Amino acid sequence: MEKLDGLWRRRVASLVEGGIIRSEAVRRAFLRYPRYLFVEKRYRDYAHVDEPLPIPAGQTISAPHMVAIMLELAELERGMNVLEIGTGSGWNAALIAELVKSDVYTVERIPELVEFARRNLERAGVKNVHVFLGDGTKGFPPKAPYDRIIVTAGAPKVPEPLIEQLKPGGRLIIPVGSHHLWQELYIMTKTEDGEVRKKRWGGVAFVPLMGEHGWRVVS
Ligand code: SAM
Repeated sequence: MEKLDGLWRRRVASLVEGGIIRSEAVRRAFLRYPRYLFVEKRYRDYAHVDEPLPIPAGQTISAPHMVAIMLELAELERGMNVLEIGTGSGWNAALIAELVKSDVYTVERIPELVEFARRNLERAGVKNVHVFLGDGTKGFPPKAPYDRIIVTAGAPKVPEPLIEQLKPGGRLIIPVGSHHLWQELYIMTKTEDGEVRKKRWGGVAFVPLMGEHGWRVVS
């Protein structure tokens, strides 16, 4: 554990030096919840490496730099109501919860990963993340509207329900692209009078967002 911790601290320091982690809040959250707590045992020694790693069901836990970039773009503040789509390992949700210090809702479409994330979150001592099984392209109406919606899988287009479930002044961060494994990261903002504005951050690579308003599941 000590060795893993040392390697993780070095990774966090390098993300700070590289200007990827810009805020003290994100730095602290990264130190509080190291990525090695959210991967299977056999991948723990690689958790500090700045690349995606496999998690069950053929999915991935994102690279530390990508998670840091999205969290910085989200500008999370204490008390915000946040929805994450694509729970995966639960790591990003744990970081969000540490930043907002309130309940976080996260939706995952693969039952095995819902269980995986719940186990990881429990082991890490995270109590304010609520993991739901479902199609996150429909958002999560019971807790809407949201200050922030963070999508961690690549969509062919921005799912309309996610825009609808944003508060005025709210922000949606989502990878969008016409190809399965390459997207552009969009930052969508809903203005106080309901207008939606889009900013493009740059190229990213996520696993596909499958579902009714995402890539269609071929059966
Ligand atoms: N945020 C995750 C973490 O911290 O480990 C990594 C997410 S992984 C890159 C993308 C996840 O999105 C996968 O677990 C995948 O099953 C999930 N996913 C894809 N389409 C989805 C949908 N429509 N609703 C919910 N989850 C979805």
